[in-house]
Amino acid sequence: MPMKPRRIFLQKAGLSAFALSLPVFNSVSAMTAFSNSAGREDKPLRVAIMGLGSYGTRVADAMQTCKRAKLVGVISGTPSKIETWKTKYGIPAKNCYNYQNYSQIKNNPDIDAVYVTTPNALHKENVIGVANAGKHAICEKPLSINAADAEEMVKVCKAANVQLLVGYRMHFEPKTLEVIRMRAAGEFGKVLFFQGLSGFIIGDPTQWRLNPVLSGGGAMMDIGVYSINGARYMIGEEPIWVTAQEVKTDPIKFKEGIDETITFQMGFPGGAVASCLSTYALNNLDKFYLDGTKGFAEMQPSTGYGPIKAKTHKGEIDIPHVTHQTVQMDEMAAIILDGKKPIVPVDGIEGWKDMKIVDAIFEAVKTGKKVMLT
Ligand code: NDP
Repeated sequence: MPMKPRRIFLQKAGLSAFALSLPVFNSVSAMTAFSNSAGREDKPLRVAIMGLGSYGTRVADAMQTCKRAKLVGVISGTPSKIETWKTKYGIPAKNCYNYQNYSQIKNNPDIDAVYVTTPNALHKENVIGVANAGKHAICEKPLSINAADAEEMVKVCKAANVQLLVGYRMHFEPKTLEVIRMRAAGEFGKVLFFQGLSGFIIGDPTQWRLNPVLSGGGAMMDIGVYSINGARYMIGEEPIWVTAQEVKTDPIKFKEGIDETITFQMGFPGGAVASCLSTYALNNLDKFYLDGTKGFAEMQPSTGYGPIKAKTHKGEIDIPHVTHQTVQMDEMAAIILDGKKPIVPVDGIEGWKDMKIVDAIFEAVKTGKKVMLT
């Protein structure tokens, strides 16, 4: 699908403003990832999406304007969706698989990577299946449903000599990266406080997100992970302890194993404290606030599909919106194909770190005690 001129302009404007605001992006390798004249552009990352649901479709649409990543295949349990995707995205029949035969993808030289967008509890077996087929794996958040599974996924991918990346789209979002740049440059002074609010009112009680066997947990696995991950990249340190408290107002909808609302706190080695809320019971919760001795950053919305809004003590951060998944997939192509190092990591270890914190939060809820992470 050809890119509309306005889209080209916005994307170019966004990326050049972004590059200007981030000196690290002025490196040759960073710029070639986006340059039309770059020779490496000839070699795209050829991606198959596994799990053709709501998010898989969003990624597929966003990939239509990618420069380095190309949607070339599907893995699905629903034959009718495969037919639709073949037509809609021009996917050849030889690149279409189901969950029973996708190990055969190892014999397909036209697919480099598989993007797993299935329910959370299936990520582990799906990523391991992809690795065993010798393909790079990109996995949606949460990487797994506990730290032990994440560790196994990281190890299996390493042993198979394939890369494992996590779909942390915010790690490539320009306003987020500008706040991170300012914090790293000391513009907020000594950072001592972060607030992360992540939540929405969940609908259909029969969906997999409310089935612990498929979701591995409730709001924390789904949306709370944004505040966990955000606290880490906004503060720029790894937490050393957590405390947490749970509130459940609807035990029928939010059955055993599905958290409705959890408030949690994390302590960081530099003295910063994060105070966060994860919930399936309230809308309009998509906010990050970072405060230091010299200034602050406020992002609201902070992790939605955008446009993200960000302001600091110096004023509004005015960088044009980019489609998160388009930038993410182009950057991931550069990571996999060129060995590019992202500013905020998106590898399996990054997802594993978040899962260790999720485990600790659940333990803190259960025991009522502070849980040490070191
Ligand atoms: P959906 O239910 O919309 O899609 C999941 C798809 O997985 C299904 O359509 C189905 O596709 C496949 N699937 C395979 N096995 C099962 C099963 N047992 N039950 C249900 N579906 C199955 O979910 P989402 O797309 O909303 O979420 C998928 C993943 O993406 C989750 O891990 C979620 O956390 C993550 N996500 C990330 C977002 C982000 O912004 N980064 C946003 C939204 C979700 P098929 O019929 O083709 O097999």
